[in-house]
Amino acid sequence: MWPSLAIIILTGALVLHLWWYRRFLQAQRRCAALDSELAGLRVLQTGAATGAEAERSALFNSMVEGVLVADSNGRILFVNDALREMINLSVDPVGRTIIEALRMHEIDSLAERVMTESRISGFELELQGTHPGFFEVNAAAVRDLNGANHGVILVFHDLTRVRNLENTRRDFVANVSHELRTPLALIKGCVETLLDGAREDPKACSRFLEIILKHSDRLEFLINDLLTISELESGRAPMHFGPVELRPLFEQVCEEIRAKADTKGVRFQIELASDLTVKADVDRLRQVLVNLLDNAIKYGPTGGLTWVCARGIDDTTVEVRVIDDGPGIPPDAAERVFERFFRLDQARTRELGGTGLGLSIVKHIVQSHSGRVWVEPATSRGSEFCFTLPKAPAESDSSPRSGE
Ligand code: ADP
Repeated sequence: MWPSLAIIILTGALVLHLWWYRRFLQAQRRCAALDSELAGLRVLQTGAATGAEAERSALFNSMVEGVLVADSNGRILFVNDALREMINLSVDPVGRTIIEALRMHEIDSLAERVMTESRISGFELELQGTHPGFFEVNAAAVRDLNGANHGVILVFHDLTRVRNLENTRRDFVANVSHELRTPLALIKGCVETLLDGAREDPKACSRFLEIILKHSDRLEFLINDLLTISELESGRAPMHFGPVELRPLFEQVCEEIRAKADTKGVRFQIELASDLTVKADVDRLRQVLVNLLDNAIKYGPTGGLTWVCARGIDDTTVEVRVIDDGPGIPPDAAERVFERFFRLDQARTRELGGTGLGLSIVKHIVQSHSGRVWVEPATSRGSEFCFTLPKAPAESDSSPRSGE
């Protein structure tokens, strides 16, 4: 009886042990499966985070506005490409404070302010130094649903170009008003003097009428030049490009301006390396030559000599030079003479009837021909104005024009 009871108990214990062992192995396998599932989930989570970050960077970097994101301690989390370029940021700002990375107190205090004010719009920032500029900065605090601060986002809008255009426009209007007011005041003064009795004296009368004529001419030149400038700048000026032979054009222009040259005994000399044909708008090109020759007469000496030269400098380009034997242009004014209303000697130029717009018109016209214009530094023989024009294609089937 006892041996068979022992066998039954032992068999039961063995079966129980085997059953537990199987359960243990099953549990171990399930644990391993869970581990690998967890690892997979972790990879997916990291991938999603990296993807979102890449998406955010791509989005901010495609913006023309500069973007800066900082945490609630003022440490920079992100700066987009546009802002790096705007403020010429050479170091990596991420992880640094705004003041460390940007060295701009205004931005630092703006970031601090926006933490309490929640949003600041239209903050104007002017940068000095090597990269001067004007910016409008809009700032907002980044908050969660409970209103806790997580940082700030600043958006920079570059206004430098707009501001510069505004300044140019303001200067231009001021200059034009001044230029118009001066001859008008003189004309008005003469008319009042005539009305006050000067008209009874024939000598005084003709003197005042001459002044009136001179200043009305000046007003007319000024208005014509202003209209030309505005036409050229707006791009509304129609350009009719075609082949233009230079020699006949030079001769015509010299002939047109001969009467004025004769009053000062100025002579012209045309020098062309060979017969040259350029691709140009003949009327605009004539205007360039008239303006340069007119200046050579105005500012050159009495009895002086003016050369008009042209040569091909390569297969595609012709260079034209107008050279006089006057006082020349000092090197420090070589760039500025092409600016609107720039004059070397204000009083003398006005006296000579200059509007201050002649060379600016020359520059616009040459540039609209894809050419370059410059003045050589003063040489012993006076000023030397140079410009380039494209050569007319040799196989052009249209017959060259010379301005007829
Ligand atoms: P303006 O109508 O006053 O002549 P421009 O734009 O043609 O205006 O010329 C600008 C200034 O450049 C002139 O006021 C003058 O001081 C200077 N300038 C131009 N051409 C000459 C020249 N050939 N010789 C000396 N100075 C010149």
